[in-house]
Amino acid sequence: MENYRKILELLYELLRLSGDTHWANLINKDIYNWDTKKSTRGFKSHFGGMGSINDLTIGEQNPKGIWQSILFDLLLNRAWNMLYNKSTSSHYDNQIQGSVCDNCSYAEINLYNLEYFLPRKILPNIINNYLQKDNFMDLLKIEDFQNSVETNLVRSKLIEAIEKQKIHYSDSRIAINRDCPKCKQRKMSAKYWDIKLELNQQQPNNKNLPLNLTPEKPWWKKLRS
Ligand SMILES: [Zn+2]
Repeated sequence: MENYRKILELLYELLRLSGDTHWANLINKDIYNWDTKKSTRGFKSHFGGMGSINDLTIGEQNPKGIWQSILFDLLLNRAWNMLYNKSTSSHYDNQIQGSVCDNCSYAEINLYNLEYFLPRKILPNIINNYLQKDNFMDLLKIEDFQNSVETNLVRSKLIEAIEKQKIHYSDSRIAINRDCPKCKQRKMSAKYWDIKLELNQQQPNNKNLPLNLTPEKPWWKKLRS
């Protein structure tokens, strides 16, 4: 439970940096309750229902903000799992979202789709590492992880795999609700691809980076069939 306090400190700082004083103050109170009476009741009460902490989005609408927001989610998730003795897993971990035209099958994954996928793959190992260190607050230097050599390698491998599947990669953000760039009809809808990407090693390199991109039904469709 030593990590519990570290996670609270990180959550507090992420909220403070994003200007959310309301939630920052509540987390600060949770730190106090932990320090003075080892109580986690306040923190547990932030979850579930409307306007709960798990619905919060932090960070700006840019790639750095996305990484901050996912770091926040992962830490929140970890604290929750720690308190309830659950293992961390997510249905979304192996899927990247993109869009596809229902008329002409034009398919596209953009930079934002990619940046939502990457930190969910890359940050869990880094969080594990840093929580064991005294300088765990360095986790907040999100740009270091976002632009590291390792991340850039995974990113370029992913773009390669995307283009191999004849999916157009775009580095601008285009909403799903728009005209298809190919047939000009308003038929673009969300689509998910399964990505098999093993990041067991701390330092991914070309040799230990098996990567595979397959069009896949979204997990909720699998549940139905
Ligand atoms: Zn089209």
